[in-house]
Amino acid sequence: MELQIATPPQKRNVDAESSTEELIAWSLDRFADRRMVMSTSFGMEGCALIDMYAVHGKPLTVAYIDTMFFFEETYRLRDRMIERYPHFEFVNCGTTLTPEQQAEQYGPELWKSDPNLCCRIRKVEPMKGALAGADVWITALRRSQSATRANIQVVEWDWKYQLLKLNPLAQWDRPRIWEYIRAHDVPYNELHERGYPTVGCTHCTAPVAGASAGDYTRVGRWNGQTKTECGLHGDGI
Ligand code: SF4
Repeated sequence: MELQIATPPQKRNVDAESSTEELIAWSLDRFADRRMVMSTSFGMEGCALIDMYAVHGKPLTVAYIDTMFFFEETYRLRDRMIERYPHFEFVNCGTTLTPEQQAEQYGPELWKSDPNLCCRIRKVEPMKGALAGADVWITALRRSQSATRANIQVVEWDWKYQLLKLNPLAQWDRPRIWEYIRAHDVPYNELHERGYPTVGCTHCTAPVAGASAGDYTRVGRWNGQTKTECGLHGDGI
């Protein structure tokens, strides 16, 4: 299905009662002369949010961090998103440190011996580069994704990266995201239909028995470890 450029309702200001659509329209208007960057890992939420911004027909930088440990399915999804949203600039901000170089410098299977360091090298530090010079950071985080995300605000200041952070989907739940994906024929990772509620690096993502595409749980991430977040959001690592 081709992307239909819509004309959503415009609103001069937003408040706690504003809809997601109004917030998105407001942000594109309010920060038109600022550098806005949306980050995505091509999760279901991220794909939906990209689509919600895309219908406005305005350009936007979409940064993603290729850890070089993506699933093949994720690379295929990335290519579909780039093709579907040609007025967005998708920028890979991933590290240039190859897995082989990482093994040489830090030892084999760093994701097992020190996953926090691995995430810092392959995600957190590259994100600093992705957000360098940005005024506004747009994410697809939701409160109900985890305890560490329970208190995120729709509009908040990010102390770690020192910029305004917009979380337009903060109040959404997974079934609503899934409904949006299907209603708008948004591309999504085929792994969601094969038991992967979320999809990260190959080394740190496992399928969850009985999970369907509309379910959300992070138990398949960093399976068997105490780690639950990569450190991109909040104080992290
Ligand atoms: S998710 Fe795993 S493999 Fe990916 S950067 Fe973090 S520790 Fe490394």
